[in-house]
Amino acid sequence: MPLYGFRCDQGCGDAERAFSMASVPDRIACPGCGAVARRRFESIAVGHGRSAAMRLHDATAATADSPRVTSSVPPAGPGRTRRPVSTDPRHRRLPRP
Ligand SMILES: [Zn+2]
Repeated sequence: MPLYGFRCDQGCGDAERAFSMASVPDRIACPGCGAVARRRFESIAVGHGRSAAMRLHDATAATADSPRVTSSVPPAGPGRTRRPVSTDPRHRRLPRP
């Protein structure tokens, strides 16, 4: 769920709470003094979670801005070697074993 910022009317400072986008209130009780804390209008904080799904989402979004660049061919290993394939069309007409 996204985090929303609230500011206490009595000067306690800011507080953040997580609400679903459909249920975010305009006011909450200040966690410091219990007075009214009004919602600050700002961009909501999404995509900063620590779950594996959020890390994957952030890593996927990062590839759009800064894709990794390959500087060398991956090393050959078992299962990575390819048999040479002929591109000569006459070879297709040869009898198969
Ligand atoms: Zn307060």
